[in-house]
Amino acid sequence: MLARRFALALVALAACSPLAAGCVSETEAQDDDDSVVGGDSTSEDAIVSERQLMGNELPQGTVALTFDDGPGGRTAELAEWLTARNIPATFFINGKNVPGRQGAIDKIVSGGHLLANHTQNHDQMTRQSGNALYRAVADTDAIIKQAQPSGPFLLRAPYGAWNGRVAGELNGGDMKKYVGSIFWDIGGDLTSTTAADWACWGQRVSVERCADLYLNEIQTKKRGIILMHDVHNKTVDMVKIIVPKLERDGYKFAKLPDVPSVKRAIAAGGTPPPPSAGKTCFSSTIGANVAENGCVQSRRDQKWYRCEDGEWTASSATDAKCTSKKPL
Ligand SMILES: [Zn+2]
Repeated sequence: MLARRFALALVALAACSPLAAGCVSETEAQDDDDSVVGGDSTSEDAIVSERQLMGNELPQGTVALTFDDGPGGRTAELAEWLTARNIPATFFINGKNVPGRQGAIDKIVSGGHLLANHTQNHDQMTRQSGNALYRAVADTDAIIKQAQPSGPFLLRAPYGAWNGRVAGELNGGDMKKYVGSIFWDIGGDLTSTTAADWACWGQRVSVERCADLYLNEIQTKKRGIILMHDVHNKTVDMVKIIVPKLERDGYKFAKLPDVPSVKRAIAAGGTPPPPSAGKTCFSSTIGANVAENGCVQSRRDQKWYRCEDGEWTASSATDAKCTSKKPL
């Protein structure tokens, strides 16, 4: 028996859900910096983010850099740049982007960074099951284990879309060696005080302004896992602004497996999802879990959603299936 499992039972609730922009702000992998991104609109509304691993227990002044959706055209350059500064990062790759970019994979590993799994095609895992779900993880795992055979094996669900059913299915096969899903504390939402790189580029926010917003969010939270997307060229430029400023301010850069929640999950493996996993939906609009068939009006888009089998589904103010209703 492999010791590691998705440590679903070990971690705190994510501070974010589909009912807020904060946790749905992941982007589809793409090379065009100027494209408006964010996946299909319905997927952003159907996400469950519960019991994911976060970085809010890191010591003050410590962050962990994570990059998603690559490798991209400048991933090798970014990995080298970070290596030269002795700063570790984790690259959550999509296997579909690897052909033609093996050099970037090699640079990540040889530079002392970590490769991690963000699925093969960036599909929403809470909408997958069976062989499709297995292949989403296993196909990218084949790339990772070749380059980084001794692990650790870390997973981040695309869009942060994760629930007990997905964890349970993956725990039922040999992908249970993965620990996840690993969420983020910083970089999930573009607002007047926080940033998300893909949203910056989609909304023509300048690299300098986006960097300032990231720095503002970091300085406010003082710790955490930072989400960025190395598939975007502008993000690489932005990292080169953010990192020197963090260094100047005395910030330390932790390796992701040393983030307390991740470290515990790696060490304590073998814990199955709790029986109730997947049967509640976390809403950051109200800041709490919502029970099965509870209905919430989203702050994000003012639409109604109902918690059904652990996932948000479109609803309405007149939905008779709602056992409770939380209007805005
Ligand atoms: Zn992603």
